[in-house]
Amino acid sequence: MSLSHNQIHQYSLINALMQGICVEGLPASQLPEKGDHGLGTLSGLNGEIVIIDGVCYHFTASGGAHILGDQEIIAFIMITRFQPVNIVQLPHLSFESLYKQISGLHEAARNCFCAIKIEGHFTQIKYRVIPGQSRPGETLLELQERQLIQTFSHQSGTLFGFMSPGYTAGLSVPGIHLHFLSKDRQHGGHVLDFETNSQPATLSTAVIRKYNLEIPDTKEFGTKCVIVHDKVDLDRAEGMHHS
Ligand SMILES: [Zn+2]
Repeated sequence: MSLSHNQIHQYSLINALMQGICVEGLPASQLPEKGDHGLGTLSGLNGEIVIIDGVCYHFTASGGAHILGDQEIIAFIMITRFQPVNIVQLPHLSFESLYKQISGLHEAARNCFCAIKIEGHFTQIKYRVIPGQSRPGETLLELQERQLIQTFSHQSGTLFGFMSPGYTAGLSVPGIHLHFLSKDRQHGGHVLDFETNSQPATLSTAVIRKYNLEIPDTKEFGTKCVIVHDKVDLDRAEGMHHS
């Protein structure tokens, strides 16, 4: 199925990753028909994926960076055909101020998703890369204990991700979830914190009201019961900010 602009196609659930249900999945060759911007992870929770302008980048906890091959298996993805509705230049932007900026751009949309792209020179950026499972069923929280955390000063690049409404907890990551791609395409991961203040950053956003959830058609997913996880655990696994 091909999606029109500014709709989300999501494969699998965050709660499935929380339980370590993440080995089987979707071949990367199916991604282009679903969108051109997104984020996710590979089979076995091996690293972080960010899709920018139709190119899918994969970063591993050993520091590797490569463009995803068609045969590689995606465990979780949120993807959209991104068409920005609002584009603003901001002299200062941080993870702390981002929620307020987005709320100001899109009034009466607090119960919607929002696609977010930020291009700029980051005076500080902190992100993590999750390592792959060392045994079947290893959970996101267990892996989070071994995650690689990188902090850079003065790194240019692009962030892409989504703001998801609180009621989607367990399906998506409630709040703002962003992945990073450095300008040289060599670094990236799941963003824990960022700040821009030396040069204006460009914030592009689009409200999303269509959320297409693809429940995995795999033996692994079909034979284990996905349970509801405590939001505190989910926030810890994802390093979430609160606004
Ligand atoms: Zn992430």
